Amino acid sequence: MFDIPFLDLPPLRGASGTVRLPGSKSISNRVLLLAGLAEGTTVVHDLLDSDDTRVMLDALRALGCGLEREGPTLRVTGLGGRLQVHDAKLFLGNAGTAMRPLTAALAVLAATQGGRFELSGVPRMHERPIRDLVAALRPLGCTIDELGEPGYPPLRVSGAPGSRLATAQPIRVRGDVSSQFLTALLLALPLVTDERAIVIEVDGELISKPYVEITINLLGRFGIDVRRDGWQRFTLPRHSRYRSPGAIHVEADASSASYFVALGAIAAHGGAPVRIEGVGSDSIQGDIRFVDAARAMGAQVDSGPGWIEVRRGRWPLQGIAIDALEIPDAAMTLAAMALYAGGPTRITGIASWRVKETDRIAAMSTELRKLGAAVVEGPDFIEVAPPQRWTPAALHTYDDHRMAMCLSLAAFNPLAGAAPPCPVRILDPKCVAKTFPDYFEALLGLAAADPADIPVITIDGPTASGKGTLAAAVAERLGYHLLDSGALYRATGLAAQWDGVAPDDEAGLARLAGVLDLRFGHGPEGSRTWLRGREVSTELRLESAGQLASRVSALPAVRAALTGLQLAFRRAPGLVADGRDMGTAIFPTAPLKVYLTASAAERAERRHKQFISKGISSNIADLRADLEARDARDSSRSVSPLRPAEDALLLDNSQLSIDESVAWVLAWWARRSPFVRAVAPTAA
Ligand code: C5P
Repeated sequence: MFDIPFLDLPPLRGASGTVRLPGSKSISNRVLLLAGLAEGTTVVHDLLDSDDTRVMLDALRALGCGLEREGPTLRVTGLGGRLQVHDAKLFLGNAGTAMRPLTAALAVLAATQGGRFELSGVPRMHERPIRDLVAALRPLGCTIDELGEPGYPPLRVSGAPGSRLATAQPIRVRGDVSSQFLTALLLALPLVTDERAIVIEVDGELISKPYVEITINLLGRFGIDVRRDGWQRFTLPRHSRYRSPGAIHVEADASSASYFVALGAIAAHGGAPVRIEGVGSDSIQGDIRFVDAARAMGAQVDSGPGWIEVRRGRWPLQGIAIDALEIPDAAMTLAAMALYAGGPTRITGIASWRVKETDRIAAMSTELRKLGAAVVEGPDFIEVAPPQRWTPAALHTYDDHRMAMCLSLAAFNPLAGAAPPCPVRILDPKCVAKTFPDYFEALLGLAAADPADIPVITIDGPTASGKGTLAAAVAERLGYHLLDSGALYRATGLAAQWDGVAPDDEAGLARLAGVLDLRFGHGPEGSRTWLRGREVSTELRLESAGQLASRVSALPAVRAALTGLQLAFRRAPGLVADGRDMGTAIFPTAPLKVYLTASAAERAERRHKQFISKGISSNIADLRADLEARDARDSSRSVSPLRPAEDALLLDNSQLSIDESVAWVLAWWARRSPFVRAVAPTAA
């Protein structure tokens, strides 16, 4: 997960491989609400874990539902339609799939059983309309107060116990702003069917019908048989009761699949396809129909139950005209695919984009133009013509997960002939957490880049200069991979010790280094390392391991044996490489090389503090003598001596905190970036 201010994607040139997608947001939140209202326990498999589902879970917990995690499954024990908590304040983030149905359910529960509930969200949620739902509920006898702007959350729903709702007349709801209002009523009103069947009638043309189909399908799984006459009239039978299906499986998100379908259509050329698992031809989600639109643009798609495989077919893609009323979310991905078409692509029927996580028509137009596309927008359409000349751009994402995911596809511009190929900066990339927390990892796991396009920052310096700490911090801020090259030499020394290979047996050591089974990972207390499956995080940091590393690293055959392993760390989106010869021998073309120094006195002081914190006694004068001796040995040796690369920038951090050193490096990096004009450097 990239919790960083921006993510720079290098130019990407191909894609293949398999991705397993997270669960559908729409299905997850509907299932959670239904399980929360039902009698009994529902075991939910493959639930999406994201911002939007988390707020729904928090709300259900606050209302007294039982929630127990059991490995990958969640056991939800529902309320059986009876309120246990009568007063609660629920924060629902920016999740429309939580705000709308919970408003409806709590409004009817408060009106009949008594209660008082406040529902609020992030500022953008308070700009997303809910008037039509409120207008449908009030005539029933529900009390709903708008606590901010009329027609928008936050809301308070309340009531005294024992009231009856006026359900004899059909309930009217508008269907042309958001289908979630109808969905909310369908999900909530089975609670009040004791006396009679309830009829809901839709005013205006119902948009996003496939989402209503998901609602009806899932209500069916929970024992409620909605009768539908066309798309205007829906009947909930008398005595409807939510019955838990016992266990339910959440299929993967078809909207999330759209980015990978597009990826295959754009970038799976030549070799293996992009294979998507978790959703396929048997999907109940409307956005699966995105596949047809992608085909029309040129994708070659095969699919079966639970899987989809996509290759590039026609190239460049074919510009199309499409009415996307039924696939509003996935249609955004068509706007990104339009960057790779031979002509313009026109997407109509998307007025709903204007009231989603952001005004998506305005946002998409602005950002695609930055890349060089010609865009025309209207109240309910967008038309995108591919760039004549691609421009490196820092792209805003508007706290909208789909903007971030769509725009990431612009990184494949070399395939459209962008000259020179452009990196793409995605601002606030963590907004993907709304539905797909690991999106960028998944994308980059399938994407191929030319190593020469992948940026590397090298950081070197004498022992105890703090280069390891600085490198890790810079890597984290940029979302880049980290290579601690010293660890490779330390591990080689350790493996030699385990196997009884002498520290001067150059050929034997090189053999070991060539098959080093080393794995890096992260834990709550920092980075962790495993050698041959055994954790060696602490052992590798011992001074004795450093001494051994210093010896084995002086052997040219060992250095040569580790070269390939080090080069393999150069993976998208980028690399921070820490160690002796990173800027001189391994990554000589790295665009930024930093040589970190600090006075011997300062380094001895730091090491001393480090030892004290570990409860090891030491003497500053001795430590300083040791450091100076190691500097002298490392500087005077003939193989990879300790010396700054000629084009390295020197950073003396004797008087700097870690944060200040990081800020220096990031400021230098920003100056080398093609985005300088687009966004101010973020060095704090
Ligand atoms: O950076 P670290 O203290 O882990 O490195 C241990 C030793 O490994 C260094 O003193 C240096 O002699 C050697 N080394 C090297 N080339 C690298 C990294 C480390 O020779 N790229």
